[in-house]
Amino acid sequence: MAAAEKMQVKFYGHVRQYHNLKADIDAAIQGVLESGEYVLGPVGVRFEKELAGYANMKHGIGCNSGTDALWLVFLALGIGPGDEIITTSSTFFATAEAIWFVGAKAVFVEMEADTALIDVSKIEAAITPRTKAIVPVHLYGQMADMRAISEIAKRHNLFVIEDNAQAVDAHGPDFAIGELSDAVCTSFIIQKNLGTFGDGGAIITNRDDIVARIKALRNHGSFKRSHHSMGYNSRLDEIHAAVLSVKLKHITEWSDRRREIAAMYTIGLQGTSFKLPTQKPGYRHVFHLYIIETTTPEERDLMLKYLNDNGVDAKTHYPISIHQQEGFPWGKEAQLSTPLPLTEKSAASVISLPMFPELEQSEIDYVIDVVRAWEDRAR
Ligand SMILES: *Cc1c(COP(=O)(O)O)cnc(C)c1O
Repeated sequence: MAAAEKMQVKFYGHVRQYHNLKADIDAAIQGVLESGEYVLGPVGVRFEKELAGYANMKHGIGCNSGTDALWLVFLALGIGPGDEIITTSSTFFATAEAIWFVGAKAVFVEMEADTALIDVSKIEAAITPRTKAIVPVHLYGQMADMRAISEIAKRHNLFVIEDNAQAVDAHGPDFAIGELSDAVCTSFIIQKNLGTFGDGGAIITNRDDIVARIKALRNHGSFKRSHHSMGYNSRLDEIHAAVLSVKLKHITEWSDRRREIAAMYTIGLQGTSFKLPTQKPGYRHVFHLYIIETTTPEERDLMLKYLNDNGVDAKTHYPISIHQQEGFPWGKEAQLSTPLPLTEKSAASVISLPMFPELEQSEIDYVIDVVRAWEDRAR
């Protein structure tokens, strides 16, 4: 492409989002600073209520991160050494990391080729007498088939914990997030669809029986002042809760805009050789990420460089699946119960295009132009 028409398109729009809401966010932070209460105070409690209300569920519990949210729920449900949790390797590393931290084993089920979500038809074959839970991940902003998952879980008496770090505001054809599980775990790190200026996370649940335990676990095992059982320090502080209260009001409009941008990408890239995102009928996909797949891994690497060289800050999510990570704690592929060829192929071929609600039309058009220019060049 000619240098004259070159633009820079960033991958994230955090600062633009801050500028759009600056008055409200500054006032919210200022309010906390003046209040003198910074940890486990009224602003956090209010946000937990707002979050539960928004999700149409009973309890919201803030914590330090999405990883901690998963870990705290596993602990509260009594999952530990010797237990197995069925999940997917097509996700961010933290899903398995949290399983590992309670001493349990992650058992990976192959993904569906079109959505990259857990293939529910393969879950039952992975269940053993040690299986305690299923952890579906609503990857890239689209829900897994929670109806099928909850039916399998009921038949085998398993817990279901939704890893919803990427799909706040998504829903299924006739089910909502949290409706068919024991708990939902969410991340508020800045790059997530609902993010604060730093780290944060939450558990949302309808189960009255685990709330007190999770709240104690996140606060040094303290059920009562000065009385402790074993716990940890994992709290959502007041400044982050204040920011999230402001942002929660905008989540629907932001998701709508993400969907609009995704539709423009999909129309703009029609007829190219790339595999474009699949939206399941009736599901609300909120496009945490807009992922395309190249035909070969070699093309992916060359294309990513071409996009980056031409000012498009494309990335890869996730280029190494969990079971192929150096740090995978169970001895890499040797420990897999079944091979995961689709997961590995997808990891080697994915490219994430810039996706955030504040993208401007000229930027969206430019991204499409650069991807198409690559396609024309490669042919
Ligand atoms: C981001 C993410 C997490 C972890 O959240 P943190 O807040 O970064 O700890 C877990 N699972 C998935 C699928 C994620 O995308």
